[in-house]
Amino acid sequence: MNCRKARKLLHRYFDGELAAALSTEVRAHLDSCAGCAAEFQALEALRKAVQSLPDVAPLPGLWARVEREVAAPRTLSIWEEAEPWFRRLVPVAAAALVLAACALVASRGPKAEAPPIGRQLAAAVFPSYEEAILLNGPISSDMVLRATIYRGGRSVNEAR
Ligand SMILES: [Zn+2]
Repeated sequence: MNCRKARKLLHRYFDGELAAALSTEVRAHLDSCAGCAAEFQALEALRKAVQSLPDVAPLPGLWARVEREVAAPRTLSIWEEAEPWFRRLVPVAAAALVLAACALVASRGPKAEAPPIGRQLAAAVFPSYEEAILLNGPISSDMVLRATIYRGGRSVNEAR
């Protein structure tokens, strides 16, 4: 057995979850490899440290609360039900929308009135962008980046 395989099995060996033959192989590796043996000793030290902690009494009513949470019907949000590829796509789409809105406004010049659809898109994607348009101020790429990150984080939280 090599170190890579031994490290992969180390926690299961530590918890006594390996079949006898595999467990013997890991033990043999630990007897012949100082690095993996040190890793295993660190696990043992951690277990001893945890076991030496004093018991803490749970707050009254904790178990009842846990049981209520477990029994409560759980409905998935739209965000949780969405396919992973779609969830990855949302921030990208938001960034593309911001950039498109910026390009639209930039093509009109700094003093020009933004077209209604551009204003609506900008307001939907990020509020500070809308403010910048209203104030006729310059829009930096940093603002776009911050707003994209802000908007991405917020849409995730709102959906939850
Ligand atoms: Zn090793």
